[in-house]
Amino acid sequence: MFRKAESLGIPVNIHQGTSFVRTGPLKYANPIELEDIAVACPDLRIVISHMGHPWEDECVVLIRKHPNLYTNVYALHYRPLRHYQAFMSAIEYGVEHKLIFGSDFPSATAAQVIAGQHKINDIVAGTNFPTIPNETIHNIIYENWKTFLPEYA
Ligand SMILES: [Zn+2]
Repeated sequence: MFRKAESLGIPVNIHQGTSFVRTGPLKYANPIELEDIAVACPDLRIVISHMGHPWEDECVVLIRKHPNLYTNVYALHYRPLRHYQAFMSAIEYGVEHKLIFGSDFPSATAAQVIAGQHKINDIVAGTNFPTIPNETIHNIIYENWKTFLPEYA
């Protein structure tokens, strides 16, 4: 299936990350599990949902390594510290340009997720921790998808 999508130039979204569904085995949920697909199908564009939460760091190193892997950021703002840490990790590894917006609708609306992105620095207000730049947030919401889906940009 992935080779077919690759040959047709069709991007795929993989809903990777933990799940509350009892019958969904977590042993397959870590984004690192996607590396074999990325290696076997190097031209396949893959977007990993939720930054693979709670394995955001694994997602970050995976998208750093594989040019056609991206990730989206929906549902992260429900957990403010994890959201902040995930974005900071992406910045430190130089892959913040591969974070793209998504809503996870109907779990949330686009407006709710956008509002959540703008609150990301609230968790570090009044501390010496660095903030996520406004430009980075803007690009995640409005710009970064254009690299993943240039045919629609
Ligand atoms: Zn989801």
